[in-house]
Amino acid sequence: MTYEITRQTFDEVMMPVYNPFDKLIIKGKGSYLYDSDNNMYVDFTAGIAVNSLGHKNKKVIKIIKKQSKKLIHVSNVFTNKQTLKLGKSLTMLTDFNKVFFVNSGTEANEAALKLARRYAFDNFGKDKTEIISFNKSFHGRTFFSVCVGGQSKYSDGFGPKVSCITHLDFNDIKTFEKTISNKTCAVILEPIQGEGGIIKAHNSFLEKVRELCNKYNALLICDEVQTGIGRTAKLFAYEHTNIVPDIVTLAKGLAGGLPIGAVLTHDNIAKHFTLSSHGSTFGGSPLSCAVGNFVINKVAKDDFLNKVKERQDLFLDILNSIAKESNKIADIRVYGLLIGINLKEEYKDKVSLFVKKCAENGLLLLTAGNNTIRLTPSLNIKKKTIIEGLNIFKEILLEL
Ligand SMILES: *Cc1c(COP(=O)(O)O)cnc(C)c1O
Repeated sequence: MTYEITRQTFDEVMMPVYNPFDKLIIKGKGSYLYDSDNNMYVDFTAGIAVNSLGHKNKKVIKIIKKQSKKLIHVSNVFTNKQTLKLGKSLTMLTDFNKVFFVNSGTEANEAALKLARRYAFDNFGKDKTEIISFNKSFHGRTFFSVCVGGQSKYSDGFGPKVSCITHLDFNDIKTFEKTISNKTCAVILEPIQGEGGIIKAHNSFLEKVRELCNKYNALLICDEVQTGIGRTAKLFAYEHTNIVPDIVTLAKGLAGGLPIGAVLTHDNIAKHFTLSSHGSTFGGSPLSCAVGNFVINKVAKDDFLNKVKERQDLFLDILNSIAKESNKIADIRVYGLLIGINLKEEYKDKVSLFVKKCAENGLLLLTAGNNTIRLTPSLNIKKKTIIEGLNIFKEILLEL
């Protein structure tokens, strides 16, 4: 039987949880993607903040080739150099000294939440189970992580939810202060809510949360799945603040496009994940970790992070001038290369139309939260590509 694979094939054979763009993407190079009709697109999505060093990165390809000739997967019944090297790098570059590897952001959060519950159980007994999370937060799609996330539309309709989870308004310190108690085992937050609409936690809020977590022996988990690995022009977004969390979760950008996730914490917490209490077959594969080693050592350099900051400033300058010229932009929030843009009230329901029109004209964008346009380009996007993409952005916005 012969058949042609087209976008239509998606509707035929794939479960309908997505409604992807109506062209097939066949290849990428740097911050450009190409479809099966040979159209070229400026890619401001980078696979949702995953392709941190762009598509078809020569070094990444070389490492994949070299490592895949040696060892792709071996399971955690055995260990290997690449996984240990990435573990070592992550501890040397950060405030943490223990690592657990998984394959995605949701698994990193699942592990972090289980670890927090186990830590509280071992140290304080069976009643310390409450988890405080925030409205509009996103922590993944396994049932625990999705119940912890602050968007009930993602967790409704799947039977009884995981219990002992409270959702509060983000940045509302008064309510937080009234809610946290000796029963709280963990507080989980994104330093900048990504899926929720690029909403930053106020530094004063984070400082107070840290203080109250200490007071009540609750662990503070920072979900840096989207904000970590240089995305905000620091290795981690929490480095812009005075706080250090107890547990950090990572994923998206860590292996330049290969699946990976990681949980970072300290000895005294990590030791509660005792032999066989958690695990992963694929977690920390030598292939993903080999690329992760390259990414982390590149991205953690001051030089590289300064360049992310320069690109941020260029985005901000041009977006500000587009806002002036078009008079259609209400708000621009730029944190490194994690960028949220809201249109004025009268254009609010036109955001999906805008994103679609941009795509049809060669610019790929994301959305987030309530009508926020989200940009998460590769961290090494070229200046001329930023200008090229924002020219299309401006043109389509002016026509809207
Ligand atoms: C994307 C994301 C996740 C989920 O990661 P997956 O790799 O899709 O499982 C969790 N938390 C945050 C903050 C994210 O942005």
